[in-house]
Amino acid sequence: MKIICIGRNYAKHIEELGSERPEEPVFFLKPDSAILPKKMPFFIPDFSEEIHYEVEVLVKINKVGKHISKKFAHKYYDEIGLGIDFTARDVQRKCKEKGLPWEKAKAFDGSAVVGEFLAKESIGDLQDLSFSLQKNEAIVQEGNTNRMLWGIDELISYVSQYLTLKKGDVIFTGTPAGVGKVQENDVLIGELNGIKNFEVKIK
Ligand code: MG
Repeated sequence: MKIICIGRNYAKHIEELGSERPEEPVFFLKPDSAILPKKMPFFIPDFSEEIHYEVEVLVKINKVGKHISKKFAHKYYDEIGLGIDFTARDVQRKCKEKGLPWEKAKAFDGSAVVGEFLAKESIGDLQDLSFSLQKNEAIVQEGNTNRMLWGIDELISYVSQYLTLKKGDVIFTGTPAGVGKVQENDVLIGELNGIKNFEVKIK
């Protein structure tokens, strides 16, 4: 399986990083080795002084597809989850300055937290899903899918023009504002529609 991450999908997050607002979705990949095994802590890697959390709504692809139209995109997923796209922001900044790919900053081991997946029918309007991230019991990120620049179906349609989507692939749909640094002993808790979805300890 592969992990497809959408960048710059919430206006306020684009502002906070001083990034340019894209004219079409930005995406990049993480390998399956990036998935943090369930119940494992996240170990801050030696190569970064600035690991940021990015809480994101996840979509799990349920069958193979390419060139999927927006109209039919809903047939390609039936589960929604929540996760973290851990990012070595200092490394990413250097990659951006040099115009290099982001993999070192984004695709490293443990960089993809994948929470619990829920049947999409059970969670209401997918274009009005609230989600949040707590760090040590304080809310640090709050988002709602109604603020996405491109919605889930548009993202599936867009990405499938370039990549064949396969059963089990996961799309990270982008992070809202409020990204920040983690430190040893932090505890991160993600909530989707007010219900706890995952918990990660930082080591
Ligand atoms: Mg992200």
